[in-house]
Amino acid sequence: MIENPIMKNEMIKFQRQRDEMVRRQLEARGIADPAVLAAFRNVPRHLFVSEALMDQAYGDFPLPIGEQQTISQPYIVAEMTQALELKKDDRVLEIGTGSGYQAAILAEIVFRVYTIERIHSLFVKSRRLFDQLRYHNIVTRYSDGTTGWTDESPFDAIIVTAGSPSIPQVLVDQLAMGGRMILPVGDQHSQELIRLVKDEEGIHQMNLGGCRFVKLVGEYGWKEL
Ligand code: SAH
Repeated sequence: MIENPIMKNEMIKFQRQRDEMVRRQLEARGIADPAVLAAFRNVPRHLFVSEALMDQAYGDFPLPIGEQQTISQPYIVAEMTQALELKKDDRVLEIGTGSGYQAAILAEIVFRVYTIERIHSLFVKSRRLFDQLRYHNIVTRYSDGTTGWTDESPFDAIIVTAGSPSIPQVLVDQLAMGGRMILPVGDQHSQELIRLVKDEEGIHQMNLGGCRFVKLVGEYGWKEL
């Protein structure tokens, strides 16, 4: 319960901005999965950026989150989430926790989210926020995500939110039968969003178009500097 009238006004303001973001940036561009749209109406995106940027949090663009990393534009988060074709009881692996926003969106939709971050300060900050917002179905880990999370595999879906030079085979190996994976693949300046499905016949790949992400740095990603 919110007793403080100033806080209550803030909440109403941000809820209004969220509803508008969903209408103008997502529905208008073809995002139609009701579970995805509901998640975007619920997750308080402004809490995933610094206080100075809160008023821009629902804009149609990415924002800096420190450590030279970014929280992706709402539309790209929605497009990737929708492309995973998630079901309620899915277990999903995310590589690149960053602000934690994408993980929170996933956590609204599926049973459990496993997310890996390689920068310690972002790992700590996002964990704290997940606890505050009571996302108890998000499991976090501080490590190089390019090798996946063997102990918890296989996953129904895997999402990589940093740009990779190629598709890491270890991640494909950690996909369940019928599993979906989405990741940006390309050079350091621009990538293609690749969607991959694993079934009895093998791996099926589809290109969803151009995108731009920060680097995936690790054993099966880019080498550090
Ligand atoms: N999903 C994030 C977007 C984060 S930007 C969000 O919703 O805010 C990409 C993140 O991937 C950065 O935080 C970066 O540190 C992280 N990253 C890059 N390479 C990684 C790796 N090998 N393992 C885990 N995280 C990685």
